[in-house]
Amino acid sequence: MTVDFKVIIIGRGMMGAAAARHLSGMIDGVALIGPREPAERKSHDGVFASHYDEARITRTFDDNLVWATLAARSLDRYAEIEATSGISFFTEAGCLFAGPPPSPGQGYLGRALDIANTLNIGVETLEPAALSDRFPQFSLNGSFKGYFERHRAGHVNPRALVKAQVVLAEAGGATVLDATVTGVEDAGTHVEVTVSDRVYTAEKVLVAAGGFTNFNQLLPSPVDTRVSARTVVFYELGERELSLFGDMPSSIIFGDRDEDHVYILPPVRYPDGKTYLKLGGDTEARIFDNLEDIGAWFRSDGDPAELDPLVAKALELMPALAGCPVTAAPCIASFTPTAYPYAGFTDSPRIAVLTGGNFVAAKSSDELGRLGAVLMTRGRLGDGDFGREFAPVFR
Ligand SMILES: Cc1cc2nc3c(=O)[nH]c(=O)nc-3n(C[C@H](O)[C@H](O)[C@H](O)COP(=O)(O)OP(=O)(O)OC[C@H]3O[C@@H](n4cnc5c(N)ncnc54)[C@H](O)[C@@H]3O)c2cc1C
Repeated sequence: MTVDFKVIIIGRGMMGAAAARHLSGMIDGVALIGPREPAERKSHDGVFASHYDEARITRTFDDNLVWATLAARSLDRYAEIEATSGISFFTEAGCLFAGPPPSPGQGYLGRALDIANTLNIGVETLEPAALSDRFPQFSLNGSFKGYFERHRAGHVNPRALVKAQVVLAEAGGATVLDATVTGVEDAGTHVEVTVSDRVYTAEKVLVAAGGFTNFNQLLPSPVDTRVSARTVVFYELGERELSLFGDMPSSIIFGDRDEDHVYILPPVRYPDGKTYLKLGGDTEARIFDNLEDIGAWFRSDGDPAELDPLVAKALELMPALAGCPVTAAPCIASFTPTAYPYAGFTDSPRIAVLTGGNFVAAKSSDELGRLGAVLMTRGRLGDGDFGREFAPVFR
């Protein structure tokens, strides 16, 4: 049977768009299907995405060698993607971690320092006095030490990165379709992909629909993921705050326990023309198991149970933010029990899945997209590409 495409990638998000770019450089007949960002979040009743924002932290310093490697491989290609697409998305503001002095090899910072040694990542250690001298924006616990990755770290603009990937995928010959898929079926010799007004056929399908992967009958059986709400807090900055916070790095500040960390994005200009400093945490306020609840969450202004402690933490760490207008926004993160992304085939030899960002995959999405493309062309991932670690778990 003649099919419409060799491979259809479902999901025009961070991983799917990257997969489309890589795959279009390997084979002909690639399609990327996914809706563009809704113009009006509050009245939209379709699917959403976890990348509708202007900044995501990027860094290699990490307490896990696999994630650090994914980030490093992606960072290696940022400049090339920017140059060939003509779209810039990376700001090398650096990334600061601060927290209680770690014991060697223990806790997030202790493990990350070991990995920094293994991968030879340039990270400067700042003793407490040097930390407060160097980053006077923060009011930190006097015992905290800092770990500063000055180069190849900072933030990416996730909307711009997706746009760059799509531009390059199209330049490589991929067909990009603005549609939401409502069904995927293995028809024995090929796969049928249903969108509202028609069915497309392909030899193979890669499902990269982020937190929406288990909805709309995209997979033969659901992947084991936890789709969890995250509230993001935005401080609108005036001239005074901009002069104070303007040159700060992306930052991750721990509390007494690793779980109590907050992440902070330096001031970034948003499409409304205003400049915001963004802050979020890792509190799990709610988990979703149906599309209606996720839709209602994305149309909301976040969860006060998450917002209030984040505001208190922001003012403790950055007292100069007092008085700035505060707004909040909702997002979702998709967690796997392996704590790694999934990149592998389902029960069907024609339908594979690429998902499970675990709240940290924006920076590494280009390498994850490459792995998705390798999966579609070779049928499996080797050890160097984390085939074992990324094996999907199904329910
Ligand atoms: C608040 C927040 C802060 C974060 N901060 C960071 C950070 O600082 N650094 C970092 O590295 N990572 C961060 N992340 C994680 C990162 O944003 C995600 O890991 C990443 O976006 C996941 O990429 P994805 O392609 O899996 O999903 P997405 O980017 O969400 O893309 C999925 C795509 O699938 C599409 N889709 C869904 N259903 C269908 C369907 N039925 N048919 C067609 N298309 C469909 C959607 O439209 C969407 O475009 C953060 C996440 C959140 C929520």
